[in-house]
This record gives sequence, C-alpha cells and structure tokens, in this order.
Amino acid sequence: MDPRNLRKVRILVIDDDEDDWLIIKSYCSKIKDFTCHVEWASTYEQGIEKINENAHDAYLIDYRLGSKTGMEILEYAHPERRRQPFILMTGVLDSELEWRSLRLAAADYLVKGSFDEIALARTISYAMQRKFIEQQRIDQLLELNHAKDEFISIASHQLRTPATGVKQYLGMVVDGFAGEVPEQQLTMLKQAYRSNERQLRIISDLLKVAQVDSGKLKLHTQPAQINELIDEVIDEQRSTLQSRSQSITVAYPNKTFPTANFDTHAIRMVLENIVNNASKYSHEGESISVEVTDDKDAVAISVIDQGVGIDEHDLPRLFEKFSRFNNPLSTKVGGTGLGLYWAKRIVDMHGGRIDYQPNTPNGSIFSVVLPKSLPQNSELIHTS
Ligand code: ADP
Repeated sequence: MDPRNLRKVRILVIDDDEDDWLIIKSYCSKIKDFTCHVEWASTYEQGIEKINENAHDAYLIDYRLGSKTGMEILEYAHPERRRQPFILMTGVLDSELEWRSLRLAAADYLVKGSFDEIALARTISYAMQRKFIEQQRIDQLLELNHAKDEFISIASHQLRTPATGVKQYLGMVVDGFAGEVPEQQLTMLKQAYRSNERQLRIISDLLKVAQVDSGKLKLHTQPAQINELIDEVIDEQRSTLQSRSQSITVAYPNKTFPTANFDTHAIRMVLENIVNNASKYSHEGESISVEVTDDKDAVAISVIDQGVGIDEHDLPRLFEKFSRFNNPLSTKVGGTGLGLYWAKRIVDMHGGRIDYQPNTPNGSIFSVVLPKSLPQNSELIHTS
C-alpha cells in the first residue's frame, strides 16, 4: 500500500526492556500525521513469530534482546524477502553497529533517547516510503522479466516449426530423394544441414529455459535404473564421441545397479548435457569416464573428463544463464550457455544438486546427486 495514503500504521516494537517499550508507545500515541497501532514483542522468539505473521507495516527492533541481538533478526528476515522497513535501535551511538545494520539493509538506525515523536514519525514514514518505491521497482522489473520470458517462449515456438521444416527438406535432398546431387552442392547442403541442426539446438535450449523460468514445468517421478539411463545417454552421444575419437567408460558400485525415483526424461537430458559438455570441452582422443556411487540417501553420477577444465574465477557463474567461458575450445564448439542453468534447475526440483570439482591434472568432474527419498509417481513443482 502507498504510505502516502496511509492513515493507520501498524508497528511492531521488538524490545526486551519494558520501560523503553512504554516510551516508544507514548511517542506513537502522540504522532499526528497518522494513527499508530503499536504492538510489543519482548523477546527475539516472539518477534520472529510476529514477523512471520506479516501483519505490520514497519518494525522497530532493539539491538539487545536477551541472549540474542537485533542483528540476528535482520539476518533472519533476509533483505530480499523483506517487504517492510526494519529499523534498528541502540542504547548508545555505535558506528560499528550502525555499519553492520546498514550492511544487513536496516531501513534506519535510531539511538534511544535522541529522538522524540516528531523524529520517530518522520523516520517511520520516510522508511516506509523508500520501501514502497523499492517494491514498486521490483514489481516493475519482475513484470518486465516475465514479458521477456514470454517473448522468448513465443519467438522460439514460432521459429521451431519453419526450422524443423528446413531440416526435413534438406535431409531429403542430402539423402538423394530428389535425385542425384553434384558433389560440390552436396557439401554445401550438408553444411547447411549442420547449421540448421545448431539453430534447432539453440531454439530447443531457449524453449526449455523459458518453460522452467515460467514455473509451468511439472516433472513426474517414476522408478528408474541408473545403469539403463546412463546406457541410453551414452548411446545417444556415441556418434559424437566417435567423431572426436573419444572413449567413454562407466563404473557402477559393486556391480549393483541403483534405482531411484525421478523424472527420467528430464534427468536423461541433464546427463546428456553434462556428457556432451565433457566431450565438447575435451580434445580429440581424450577419454571420459562415468562413475556411479550409491549411498543410503542419494545416488551420485559423476562425469569425469580430461579436457580444458574451468578457471577458478569463472566458477561462481558456472550455473548462471548464458554463462560461457573462454577456453582453448570455446570458439570451436558451439553453445548457448543455457545447458547447465537448465540442468541445475531440474536437479534442484528433485531436491538434488550438481557439484563441480576440477579433475587432476586436467579437466572437470560434474556430479549429479539425486536423493533417494522421492516417492514414486509424485509431481515435482517449482519452489522458487
Ligand atoms: P554451453 O552451451 O556453452 O556448453 P553450458 O551451460 O552447458 O553451456 O555450460 C556453460 C559453460 O561452462 C560452457 O560454455 C563452458 O565454458 C563451461 N563448461 C561446461 N562444462 C564444461 C566441461 N566439462 N569442461 C570445461 N568447461 C565446461
């Protein structure tokens, strides 16, 4: 709600000192610009409980709260989730504390005894106004982001149909269905066919990401054997691996084949992307191995390559959208920088994780860790 139109402001005071609470309460009763409804929480725990009710327009939080501090409240109510201003109060001016509260995105910092009802009213209304404008901007950005996702989704859908048509007709001409094609033209047509395949891959990546970002993607768990899944992934990648003279081996734990519940179609695509990357970012002739480890709670599938590896300073952006890093092969191999972003979102939806580790002396290890606790036939939906 726009604070300029507010007549009634609900404030929660979190303070373990009853005298201080009574002083603030009396200031609040004297505020003329708006009616102040103040409530008191005398402990950290009570404060957290009331914050979770989300029923106040602003919070006044004392630094000292028994064995806890107001900083812990600021940490608990993460700045990105806060919709109301959190104002910290201390008994004495302490610039170190003031900086810490700023870093935790406190809306203001008040020293008890140094303000009256007029200053308090001003602090509260300015803080609410700033928060309101910030929220308006966030809402605008979210709307814009949503419109962008919609645009990408619609544009990719529209592009996919004609691009698929081009692939079919080119394929037919290349395969000689329209008569013999002279050698030079055939070479050019094959080049066009490969370019069109790349184009379709980009469209498919964009569509997958648009679907996951829109929150509309639903996954369904079903029992699957890891070995069957990995065999399918390797079969699918075999011609690519052969064209680069790369070998691939798989090791299962104790020759037993772990089973778990997950969306097989989605996890297959995740593994395909990781195995394909292991091949893309390795030189010709280098080998790849897949290792499966089976714990009580989780199954881990690690894809180990001896390729170009990833620079340490690139790692924080590894799973971000459109992240592509400079390496000796990056200009030679194509990519959108969307594969790992999508893969992480899918594995997150399963309650799992993707870990990265450098391989020694060269290369990368990507491990997909999937929990075994997911029930059969359950629906996985977005939580973020
Ligand atoms: P791309 O389509 O570019 O391959 P990904 O999202 O799959 O996109 O990967 C993002 C980036 O991470 C890649 O561009 C590459 O720089 C790096 N990367 C991914 N896998 C590997 C790997 N096995 N070895 C080295 N670099 C990798």
